[in-house]
Amino acid sequence: MDTETSVTIGTTIGATALETMIRGIFLAIGCVEDEAATIATHLVGSNLAGHDSHGVVRVPRYVEWHKLGYLRAGQQPEVVTDGGAFLLLDAQQGFGQSVTKQAVALGIGRAKQHGASVVALRNSGHCGRIGTYAEQAMAEGLLSIHFVNVAGSVLVAPFGGVDRRFSTAPIAIGVPLEGRPIVLDFATSLVAEGKVLVASNGGKPLPADALIEPDGSLSGDPHTLYGDYPQVGPRIPGAGPGAIRAFGDHKGSGLAMMCELLAGAFTAGGCAGPAKTRGCITNGLLSIYLSPAHFGTEAEFQRMGREYVDWVAASRPIDPASPVLLPGETEARYRAARLRDGVPLPADIWEDLRRTAVSLGVTVPAA
Ligand code: NAD
Repeated sequence: MDTETSVTIGTTIGATALETMIRGIFLAIGCVEDEAATIATHLVGSNLAGHDSHGVVRVPRYVEWHKLGYLRAGQQPEVVTDGGAFLLLDAQQGFGQSVTKQAVALGIGRAKQHGASVVALRNSGHCGRIGTYAEQAMAEGLLSIHFVNVAGSVLVAPFGGVDRRFSTAPIAIGVPLEGRPIVLDFATSLVAEGKVLVASNGGKPLPADALIEPDGSLSGDPHTLYGDYPQVGPRIPGAGPGAIRAFGDHKGSGLAMMCELLAGAFTAGGCAGPAKTRGCITNGLLSIYLSPAHFGTEAEFQRMGREYVDWVAASRPIDPASPVLLPGETEARYRAARLRDGVPLPADIWEDLRRTAVSLGVTVPAA
């Protein structure tokens, strides 16, 4: 499997032990019980799904942001506008995994009432892997679409340009087909920043055209994004001369811009750009929830949807050893393997986590 950390594995740790330690860290810094549990489950869940860039690697940075006052514990999304089937919520810089989970629960509730709902959420702390929220809605039988942006971050050049104008602005869509749930979830940048980070640490190299230099030449060299950096130590995404490219040429670039407009401008949380007053990144989300039961197509949706995705998956593979996968199946495979074998962590990331735990008096499990 193509894992971001495949070259630099140092430690493997059981998911439950890891989750207990992470929960302990967030309790120790002052999060409430539910909040700490939600953050831990989400982060470990991202590792389990194979998205290590949105997993426990984030813990030391969240702890630091909380210390600096950029992230606030114990927050509930404040209702700014309540239109029944639509809501505008302000997350008040709460821990993203917790406030976004609460916002999704509100969206689910409204969609069950009205058949459809739209929830705009702004000023959320980094909310992690967006597919998690599509899965939360799917567990209640709902389809959902999530446009997301990152205010205070600017990493990606638009199609035809070299200067950074977008965040990695992800999008996720969940379709709850029984027995074969579909979750499409990706950043609109050609590669997630976490993958540039991994490459800069000697991990899996980037595709040669993932980045763009100021003169328009394409690059797979992490220095394009980070500038000069020590072999071991922090990477500063603002320090490099170039940018990550948007995926899919003009189409992906257009989709990235729509994420900025829908999740940043429409929610009034702010579009991509340098961190201004906040000092750290915040996510904005525009989420749409649809209930097939209310639309009266539930049985057909299940039957036609399932027949269709099975037919797609049956397309003759280029390589007979690699059958066509549907969105969400890669993550399901990772989850099965990592629940069985443990979560692999690069040595430096485990050391950072261990140090964070020890500094807060949290017990570190044996790796
Ligand atoms: P990616 O490039 O790994 O693409 C993932 C998507 O492609 C998934 O839907 C997956 O099921 C599907 N997929 C993967 N391999 C496939 C295959 N062989 N056949 C068919 N489908 C396949 O994802 P990414 O762009 O690196 O994003 C990683 C994560 O980062 C996502 O979970 C995203 O939500 C998250 N993210 C979050 C933020 C934030 O601000 N919170 C910002 C950017 C990205």
